[in-house]
Amino acid sequence: MKEMDNPYAPNMAVIKEIIKETPDTNTYVLCLKEKKFNFRAGQFVMLSLFGVGEAAISICSAPAPSKEFALTFRKVGMVTDAIFNLKEGDKVWVRGPYGNGWPIEKIEGKDLLLVVGGCGCGSFRSLLMHIFMDRERYGNVEILYGTRTPADQIYAYEHEKWRSMPGVRLLRTVEKKDGQKWDEHIGLVTSLFPFIKTKPDDSVVFTCGPEIMMKFVGLELIKKGFSEEQIYLS
Ligand SMILES: Cc1cc2nc3c(=O)[nH]c(=O)nc-3n(C[C@H](O)[C@H](O)[C@H](O)COP(=O)(O)OP(=O)(O)OC[C@H]3O[C@@H](n4cnc5c(N)ncnc54)[C@H](O)[C@@H]3O)c2cc1C
Repeated sequence: MKEMDNPYAPNMAVIKEIIKETPDTNTYVLCLKEKKFNFRAGQFVMLSLFGVGEAAISICSAPAPSKEFALTFRKVGMVTDAIFNLKEGDKVWVRGPYGNGWPIEKIEGKDLLLVVGGCGCGSFRSLLMHIFMDRERYGNVEILYGTRTPADQIYAYEHEKWRSMPGVRLLRTVEKKDGQKWDEHIGLVTSLFPFIKTKPDDSVVFTCGPEIMMKFVGLELIKKGFSEEQIYLS
């Protein structure tokens, strides 16, 4: 089996499974027709449909060499709208992977604080899958995850499994219940900061989400004693 050798050449992939995450966000499990795919957690692909265009989308699956990988994206425009009209068995095209990915080597043997906002950011799941595949290489993992409403929480069907992993703590928050069942925190993701257990010594922070969120996450963490050098933005 050949690997994807030319990152600029589009490769055909079949939609193997479509998972509805939120009203406007789906996860697509794709299977490359011919070649296997090798990527780092945090890298992205260019996803395209001929005659429509292409969009950058982060890979959200475990970074193990395989013909299969997954992408989570919101329906926001030309390409994503067109792909939302496709069904399992239909074909799309991918180029890549691109980008440096998360600096995983920086978290070996250290605690990780992961601050995530919104539903357009699947790369943190790829990072978690990487850590879970090789759990003893990393310290405690504390995940703070915030969305507008409970229905906007992506991968909600996996959250209890994440919580059951050794040394993993998941704190979730929503801005408003919006009439849905929710018995966890309410407020912006930064309103979870008083509950953070990760200490600034010997830890690393990764954050992904809207730019405005990452800005305030950085500022608030610096007030809590974390240094700029240990905070990585997506
Ligand atoms: C490295 C990287 C990784 C990414 N990963 C993800 C991911 O994992 N998941 C995800 O959901 N997104 C991700 N994105 C964002 C995604 O690439 C964009 O949302 C992309 O534009 C979607 O393509 P599209 O053709 O569907 O939308 P587009 O047609 O490009 O529209 C995108 C936005 O621009 C607006 N727009 C379009 N045309 C106009 C116009 N003429 N005037 C004004 N506004 C306009 C649309 O209303 C929409 O809000 C990522 C982006 C980058 C750079």
